[in-house]
Amino acid sequence: MDASDMGDDLEKVLLSKEQIEARLDEMAAEIDADYAGKDLLLVGVLRGAVMVMADLSRRMHTSIEMDWMAVSSYGSGTKSSGVVRILKDLDTDLHGRHVLIVEDIIDSGLTLSWLVSNLRSRGPASVEIATLLRKPEAAKVEVDVRYVGFDIPPEFVIGYGLDFAEKYRHLPFVGTLAPHVYNG
Ligand code: 5GP
Ligand code: MG
Ligand code: MG
Repeated sequence: MDASDMGDDLEKVLLSKEQIEARLDEMAAEIDADYAGKDLLLVGVLRGAVMVMADLSRRMHTSIEMDWMAVSSYGSGTKSSGVVRILKDLDTDLHGRHVLIVEDIIDSGLTLSWLVSNLRSRGPASVEIATLLRKPEAAKVEVDVRYVGFDIPPEFVIGYGLDFAEKYRHLPFVGTLAPHVYNG
């Protein structure tokens, strides 16, 4: 899928495929340098992180394993509450492991903050976070994000794993939708 398949549903491209790829090159190099000589477990948070996981991991030279979690956060409307339910847990024992959570976007950061404490309670050697995108709200929560691709404005974005009503995840770029898409 590309911009040409979206008719007038696309408002604007925020980050092009080329910008995302160039930044993933840098992030992969940084993570490789930090975990040199170690085994790393990448934990992807379904479903949005699928694209970041695929493209980031393929740029890395570090010995990695991958596992996935699905969580749902209870909240009113579009705001997450920080009360989280595990829909699919990891299959991997985290004891003594270096864990890097891979995320698409951090908005309020509440889901992630819960996830970090949950994973830390399982006896890992370390738990860090890598996210492609971060919104300004995330700064309010006490969660230390080691690797950030881009800080973006507080707008609702789609593409590169991110959906609106499960659509647009397979766009190669990150963009915003025209208002008529939300308003029907
Ligand atoms: P929070 O950080 O608020 O707990 O929640 C983060 C989750 O909310 C993300 O993993 C994503 O599923 C969703 N989310 C937050 N902001 C956006 C956005 O701009 N676009 C899309 N498609 N999802 C978002
Ligand atoms: Mg996510
Ligand atoms: Mg979503």
